[in-house]
Amino acid sequence: MTTEHDREPAGSLRSLVYAALPPDANPTDTACQPLHRHVLDNAQGDVVELTREKMSTTFGDTPHVVVTIRDGDLDPATDGELVGMLERTEGGVLVFGVSYVLDAPPGRGGGPTRFTGATEEPVRGEECQECGSTDAFEVQRAETPDAHGRTTRLVECRDCGAVWDSYVS
Ligand SMILES: [Zn+2]
Repeated sequence: MTTEHDREPAGSLRSLVYAALPPDANPTDTACQPLHRHVLDNAQGDVVELTREKMSTTFGDTPHVVVTIRDGDLDPATDGELVGMLERTEGGVLVFGVSYVLDAPPGRGGGPTRFTGATEEPVRGEECQECGSTDAFEVQRAETPDAHGRTTRLVECRDCGAVWDSYVS
């Protein structure tokens, strides 16, 4: 195995996943299943495909995509955690699943949407846990406050794409 596939050069998890997602999808949850090279070598049948199907089943009715991550697919600057996981497979792959919700089409009221649309409002006072950037924007906001009267929102780092929850201050 010396041939390089014609893959995109050093992408990132983000570009990989976003390429697979519909354009108006908002990721809600992820799952990751490492497959060690030994497993790939010794498995009967297409273990990658089987793992993808199994993960797909666990997402059930939730809209989702499952991608396969190979060496060269990750950006160490932003995907550090997964890079380590991929290294531990010693040449294997990561089967990575993302569930998502679709943004409601504009002008169509109704529907049980829990979040308001993406505003991309810059957010002050947030610091990215991944890269330390303070350039974050709001992705989603809960329409109703929680039991403590606080409104949760989803914040995304503009520099590295990390996403976290915070409260509207
Ligand atoms: Zn960041």
